[in-house]
Amino acid sequence: MDEPPYHLDIEGVEDDTGAAPGNVTLRGRPWIGIRFDCCETYARIYRNTSGTAYQGGCPRCQRQVTLKIGPGGTDSRFFSAS
Ligand SMILES: [Zn+2]
Repeated sequence: MDEPPYHLDIEGVEDDTGAAPGNVTLRGRPWIGIRFDCCETYARIYRNTSGTAYQGGCPRCQRQVTLKIGPGGTDSRFFSAS
């Protein structure tokens, strides 16, 4: 399969986790739920260690997704990759 990775931009998701950037433990890593349109499945993806994005992959086809964290505010916890 040659599906390109998903790239999404989100805003302010890091603000509602209470975790300071650069001070994230593996155990307490923030995550968001995402729906993969490719396989119509849901998965959790976790924030990377630098706190700049959420990164993960489709649990079925392994298609990668990156959600860049931007400034702003939202309390959304679920997103769609399409
Ligand atoms: Zn998939």
